[in-house]
Amino acid sequence: MRRLLATAMWPYAKLAGALRPGLRILMYHRVADGQGYDQLTVSSARFERQMRHLAAHAHVVSLADGLAALRAGRLRRPLVAVTFDDGYLDNLTHAAPILARHGIPATIFVTTRFCDQTLSHPRYGQATQRLHLNWDEVAQLAAMPGITIGSHTVSHPYLPTLDEAQARHEIAESRRQIEVHLGKPADYFCYPSGDLGARERRLVQQAGYAAAVSVAPGANHAGVDVLQLKRTEMTDRDDAFDLALKLAGAFDPMHRLLHARRQRRFAQRHAKPSSPMPIEP
Ligand SMILES: [Zn+2]
Repeated sequence: MRRLLATAMWPYAKLAGALRPGLRILMYHRVADGQGYDQLTVSSARFERQMRHLAAHAHVVSLADGLAALRAGRLRRPLVAVTFDDGYLDNLTHAAPILARHGIPATIFVTTRFCDQTLSHPRYGQATQRLHLNWDEVAQLAAMPGITIGSHTVSHPYLPTLDEAQARHEIAESRRQIEVHLGKPADYFCYPSGDLGARERRLVQQAGYAAAVSVAPGANHAGVDVLQLKRTEMTDRDDAFDLALKLAGAFDPMHRLLHARRQRRFAQRHAKPSSPMPIEP
């Protein structure tokens, strides 16, 4: 159904994209096999096909180069950047070799306590195998050509529910921790669950980040607020045709509706303190 609607939107999206090219930031989480269907996991085979498609049909840039192009003004052609959230071990074992094979740069947003191995993403419960990258592995990734390490907080909280001091700690301390372990601070930040308010945006700016990504859907154009960049979620269901639709922006109107509905639900849940914490996405 979604695909049908997106297909109907395709000609309009393609035309709009041609008239006003933007930077589309793709959002991945895990690249792993044998998981069963999980919205946040893409199989190695699917990821390989998606990266092959990008290498052949898109102009893929690092987040830094994409942002530099946006700062320079109107883009001459659509650009694509690849990002990963949460710092999963499979980003090194499964995704990195495929990225390298296709010469595709990527930014990996790590949660520092996940790297310390003192905390793990609650979505995967008691995993039998180690889920997250340790600091040695983050350093290995950081040393690979085209790979940038960004921050995804200290403990992956839902930031708007924290008090000011806690929120500042999550945002600033994770940047400092990455500097301690890698010898350079992270310039890019990723809001857990993608949601933010004016306070979170201000704290990210005060912590010295150059840019930050959300989960609001769509492409980014010159003049965009670089502290709340939009992204496009990728799943294992996205074949070459879906990827072409997503790159053209044909899914954007529908994703904007779903995003607005999800934000309303989050707001409702957080109005009641007894309700459980939501798990991303
Ligand atoms: Zn996350």
